[in-house]
Amino acid sequence: MENSEVDRLTQLLSDAQDIIKHQNSELTGLLESKSQELEEILGNIDQIIWYIDSKTLSIQYVNHAIGAVFGFTKEDFLADPTLWQQRIHQDDRLLVRSFFETLVPGASQEIRFRIHRVNGEICWLNSRVYHNEKLDLFVGITSDITQSKLQSEEIAFLAYYDPLTMLANRSKLKLQLHSRLDHSPLVPFSLIYIDLDNFKNINDTMGHEIGDQILIEVTRRLRELFHDDQLLSRFGGDEFVVILNNSDSVYISDFCTQIGQIFKAPFTINDVPFFLSSSLGISMYPEDARNCEDLIKHADTAMHEAKKNGKNQFVYYHSSMQRAIHNFLHVESLIRDGLKHDFFTLYFQPLVNASSLTLQGFEALMRLPHPTEGYISPDTFISVAEKNGDILHIGHIVLTQACDFIEMLQLQYQDPFYIAINISAKQLHQVDFAQELLNYLKQRSIDPSYLKVELTESAVMDNIEIASRQLHTLKEGGIHIALDDFGTGYSSFAYLAQLPISTLKIDKSFIDTVCEVDSHSHIVKAISNLAHVLGMSVTAEGIETQEQFNFLVENRIDTLQGYLLSKPITKEEILHNLTSLIPFFLPKKALSYSI
Ligand code: C2E
Ligand code: CA
Ligand code: CA
Repeated sequence: MENSEVDRLTQLLSDAQDIIKHQNSELTGLLESKSQELEEILGNIDQIIWYIDSKTLSIQYVNHAIGAVFGFTKEDFLADPTLWQQRIHQDDRLLVRSFFETLVPGASQEIRFRIHRVNGEICWLNSRVYHNEKLDLFVGITSDITQSKLQSEEIAFLAYYDPLTMLANRSKLKLQLHSRLDHSPLVPFSLIYIDLDNFKNINDTMGHEIGDQILIEVTRRLRELFHDDQLLSRFGGDEFVVILNNSDSVYISDFCTQIGQIFKAPFTINDVPFFLSSSLGISMYPEDARNCEDLIKHADTAMHEAKKNGKNQFVYYHSSMQRAIHNFLHVESLIRDGLKHDFFTLYFQPLVNASSLTLQGFEALMRLPHPTEGYISPDTFISVAEKNGDILHIGHIVLTQACDFIEMLQLQYQDPFYIAINISAKQLHQVDFAQELLNYLKQRSIDPSYLKVELTESAVMDNIEIASRQLHTLKEGGIHIALDDFGTGYSSFAYLAQLPISTLKIDKSFIDTVCEVDSHSHIVKAISNLAHVLGMSVTAEGIETQEQFNFLVENRIDTLQGYLLSKPITKEEILHNLTSLIPFFLPKKALSYSI
């Protein structure tokens, strides 16, 4: 090749090199400006964007966001590419390592773990990571989820814990029971239902703040009895439920005794001592029930039995308690039927003047004839109605039907007879009971002296203050009052003399054996004398024999009532036969209507 040719080619090559050099520097400039642009964009993102070597997990790239999260700068991490691993929470290191070891190439996966910030605070991170196998890199985006994690923990806490006592709540207890029954159905255990006695009184009279403080103190004392593997929960207001990993009755009884003992010392709040006790019910798995709901229900039933037996004690569940509840519910449904379909009917039993043997009045006695269940005795339905409150409805029916009957008697006779109605404790303790009764009579233009109320001694003595107020209102309104079942309660003579009572009605149990049991004849005589000394009249009920009748007349009983004279009968029977009932009501010719 000629020299000139060589020179030309050299020149061309040099030109080409110049062009490439120029283009290279242009490209580098472009690349640099692009990468700066990218860096700026990524730098303004909250999330940490990064990639790390898939073998060593050392950082190759990270944006500025890492500084805000960890408290170190981006440069710190680039200078020490394993710094981020050193900041991982001890308990999460294994989790992070195995996450990266098992990450599938080509797919992205998520992980949550904790790190320590430079100031020691713990921070929750969520990372989405992609394994780029070609470049041997893990590429990821990480965000700080501490705030939302704390919030959700708080929500979870509120969902399962009681904020006042910090104990597990009802949901947590049920969750634990369910999981226990699912995972270890063969392991026996027991449930204790604790209810504080008379706590409602403290809450109502002293206010909820004092109540809350007492609950906190009860919790503190209860906690001292517990081991980690037992669950103590606050089930509701003043109710706690315990799961005991034990079904040995000696152990359980001992444990319940210990619970009872934590109430021995008073609960002193603001220097005021409060005395509490607790009633406990126990159900056992699997004997008493095999599911969570029934176990709780049975422990609750047993707890109520403990209350019924006088509180401050523990009672084991027994299936007979369930039968009593079924019975109660059955009678309750019959009462509801009776109210809905107007089955309730008053019967009337004559009250006879002992000296003239003339008819004085009638005692109204409720009957519940049920079309499919037959005749239901008041001894059965009254106690249920008193407990569930239906007695108030029944009381209205009694009053309405008694007044209807008074009006009928008024139509037929110039001087009609009085009707004595039975009033239960629940009715008497209604604040406006007496006034409403008087208003009702007024509204129907019925003279109050035609109505008499019979109250049991215990209903009056149970809440003497309210009872006394009601009795005075009744008396001032012109209604006579009889104290029923007298001799069985615990009347204080001091009160008796002060109450506006016009009649003592000697309890039937004394009359039943008045001719056989000496003490009963003495009691009857004593009550008769007492009544007369206090200016009251005295009635004997349940007279079935001529001997009883003779004894009672001899001992100055004023009014007589019993099957010997007449059973309770319907108003139709009375209106039809009244002429034969008066003026002389001879015991030997006792009427024998049957109900
Ligand atoms: P009580 O008020 O002591 O009524 C007397 C009970 O003795 C009545 O039973 C009556 O039928 C019964 N009796 C009367 N004479 C004799 C007799 O010679 N022999 C026997 N063996 N029994 C006699 P009854 O009607 O079954 O009522 C039972 C209880 O149910 C009543 O006792 C009363 O406490 C309650 N009761 C009945 N009706 C009402 C009502 O309308 N309201 C309320 N609150 N309670 C009622
Ligand atoms: Ca009565
Ligand atoms: Ca009675």
